[in-house]
Amino acid sequence: MLNIINKNQEIKEEFFYLERKALRFYKRKKYKQSFEYYKKVLKASNEFKNNSNESHFKWYDEILSNCLKKYSDNYDEFFKCIYSMNIENYDAWFDKAKLYGNNNKRNEAIIYCYKLLKIRPDDLDLLEFTGHNLCFSHRYDESLKIYDIALSIDKNNKDLIQDKWYVYYTSDRIYDTLEFCKNLENTDDITSTDYQALGFRFEEKEEYETALWCYKKGFEIEETDHKEFDTDSVDAIKRMLLKLSIDDYSYINEFYLEWISKIEHKFETTNCSKCGGKLTPIIYGLVVGDEVFEEQEKGNIIVGGCSVDESSPTHYCKKCDEEFNFRFNGLKIDYPFY
Ligand SMILES: [Zn+2]
Repeated sequence: MLNIINKNQEIKEEFFYLERKALRFYKRKKYKQSFEYYKKVLKASNEFKNNSNESHFKWYDEILSNCLKKYSDNYDEFFKCIYSMNIENYDAWFDKAKLYGNNNKRNEAIIYCYKLLKIRPDDLDLLEFTGHNLCFSHRYDESLKIYDIALSIDKNNKDLIQDKWYVYYTSDRIYDTLEFCKNLENTDDITSTDYQALGFRFEEKEEYETALWCYKKGFEIEETDHKEFDTDSVDAIKRMLLKLSIDDYSYINEFYLEWISKIEHKFETTNCSKCGGKLTPIIYGLVVGDEVFEEQEKGNIIVGGCSVDESSPTHYCKKCDEEFNFRFNGLKIDYPFY
């Protein structure tokens, strides 16, 4: 299996190598050598096609193949034919740009894209593809410019909105990402996962209020689209409320009501399942007031500190020194993704 992968990789790299070489000969005005290399390129393109799932060979099958046949004794015409880009061969060139872009030859892909944009500056597919390649080449400002052009043509295009969000996010401009989220016309122009990811960045920076805002937005989307429903947002909201010592759980209470029919059973949270000893709940977050510590001294609770995540234990058995994690207040809930 690995041998096949390596062999296919070699075939692919050989193909790109040959085409670069053909172009280099042309630039050095060595037309005959260049022409000979383009013959090899065509052969290598077939080899590449037959040994991969790659499908973007339109330029090779149609333009290169025809020109090699037609102009074998006229290099001037041959190169004019294969290098000219116009509305007639636009699709073939766009296809070639995809072949390069999809195979991580992004610089070449971007050069083709910019040339194609001169022919059809309002082609949304091309704009999106260009923005994508610029983003993955870490040319973020250029990428944003391209998405702005695309969005000026189709401002409600969710794919484009999400792409633009991703440029901000992946380039670590989290305050710009937040600003972008706040200015969205519709909350669900991006996905709940996007909000969660951004929330997590703010959580890492200990900006819990902002993180909470993000997580709540993600939760709002999940609420309106149950297909996407998972517990990550709920857990994250709980975590932020604890961090911020906010006592208003109305947000997630709705979540529990929504899913109450899915509850299979409640964990026994008063006694240890191993030794039968009394379980002590562990609470997290910033502790204010002496009552909490008094309760701890009485052995009724344990203060777990500020750092909490999904795997943090919720109960402790003093008798056998065992910790337990009963999520959702001890509820075992049966629904997808959990
Ligand atoms: Zn025990």
